[in-house]
Amino acid sequence: MTELLIVPAHRELSERVHWLIQLRWLAIIGALITIVIANALLPNTLPLVPLVGVTLTIAIYNLCLYLYANRLDKYDFSSRYRQSLIIAHVQITMDLVALTLLLHFAGGLENPFFFYYVLHMITTSILLSRRSSLVYAGLATVLFCGMLVLEARGIIPHYNLKGYRAPSRYAEPMHIFSVSFALASTFFFTAYFASSVMSRLRARTEDLIEANQACELQVQQLAELNEKLKKAEEMRTQFTLLVTHELRAPVAAIHSYLKLILDGYVPPEKQRDILERSERRAREQLDLIADLLELGRIQQKAATDKTVPVQIDEILRGICDMMRTQAQEKGLAFNVEIAPSLPPVKATPDHIKQVWMNLISNAIKYTKPGGSVTVSVSQNPNYVVGEVQDTGIGIAPEYQTRIFDEFFRTDEAKAMERQGTGLGLSIVKRIVEVYGGRIWVESEVGKGSKFTFILPKIS
Ligand code: ADP
Repeated sequence: MTELLIVPAHRELSERVHWLIQLRWLAIIGALITIVIANALLPNTLPLVPLVGVTLTIAIYNLCLYLYANRLDKYDFSSRYRQSLIIAHVQITMDLVALTLLLHFAGGLENPFFFYYVLHMITTSILLSRRSSLVYAGLATVLFCGMLVLEARGIIPHYNLKGYRAPSRYAEPMHIFSVSFALASTFFFTAYFASSVMSRLRARTEDLIEANQACELQVQQLAELNEKLKKAEEMRTQFTLLVTHELRAPVAAIHSYLKLILDGYVPPEKQRDILERSERRAREQLDLIADLLELGRIQQKAATDKTVPVQIDEILRGICDMMRTQAQEKGLAFNVEIAPSLPPVKATPDHIKQVWMNLISNAIKYTKPGGSVTVSVSQNPNYVVGEVQDTGIGIAPEYQTRIFDEFFRTDEAKAMERQGTGLGLSIVKRIVEVYGGRIWVESEVGKGSKFTFILPKIS
């Protein structure tokens, strides 16, 4: 039996074992009251000592069962189930024996309370399997019929309810047979029907529990998704704040420059200089807006533009001359190494061009004159590999992942090159990742950096 099935079966059984114990206390009180009333109605007829004795015995074993059942909570699932099963069998057997004894001392066949066996059959079917219920129906039949036969044969005494039934009736074979047959068939039918209903109910409960577990799983998944959404929302808010801050700075600068001129604080000979500064800040802001637009469009562009097989080495060749000129103007050596027969990658050519341009112009920007920039393309079994290496200022280890964050610039980079949006590497990273690739940097401060990106090959 799987854990899933043990859990409801166990819960049901141990709960019902407790319930039956509670019910038995009521039955004991009911039995005592019945004995008192019967004794008042039929004075000097009932053997009070054995009747009260049997009732007290029931009370004693019920107390033992109560104490034992309460200890079960300490056990684990499966042993609790096994122990509850034992308690159920013990109490049903004891109850049948006790009922038979009570009936025997209170008139045997003359006593109409023999129908109480049927109640036991129902409780048995509620607690146990159909097979066990039928076995207990058999046991009840044996006990009741056995008592009748033994009494009729005089092997055990018969207690006649004087004034209630004629003493000869209990010995009439026909009467004994008809009552026994009617009762035995009632036992078996009750056991069969009640256990059928119970087994259906159990199956339904198990279905419900399974459905409930599936629901709980979905609730958990939804909670996780919700958490992710919250995080995404938080990141979006932070990004918006950052963007607003970055966009505000150049506008504030331009505003204060213009105000100085308008308020007459700038002499005419200095006005051109201030206007040039304003124009520079305006250009910076335009660059920033262009980069921001670019960043926002990558995903959309990758989805809508035609992603075609792209030779990234060809695209590199296309921009090489322009980049070489820039490098040489700054006094840098510029080397290109392209491996032969490279396979294509799936991307849009514009995006690949942007990756190369951003990485190479950074290398040129952050390398002092006299240094060198080396660009290479090669392949490994699954990817086409692009590398841009320089002998520039380098990046401290603690910043090597942060440089890919939006707007992040190191102080060394700001000191060397005032102009920069801090968005170039974020754009590159997003492009590479949108096509299933990766980018990383290896760098040493003062010695240089090597940016490597990989894109899946189309074979
Ligand atoms: P920007 O170049 O506009 O500052 P990027 O996003 O392209 O923005 O780069 C982010 C930061 O990463 C740079 O400010 C610089 O600190 C660092 N960085 C990028 N490339 C290099 C490089 N080749 N050498 C040293 N630092 C670099």
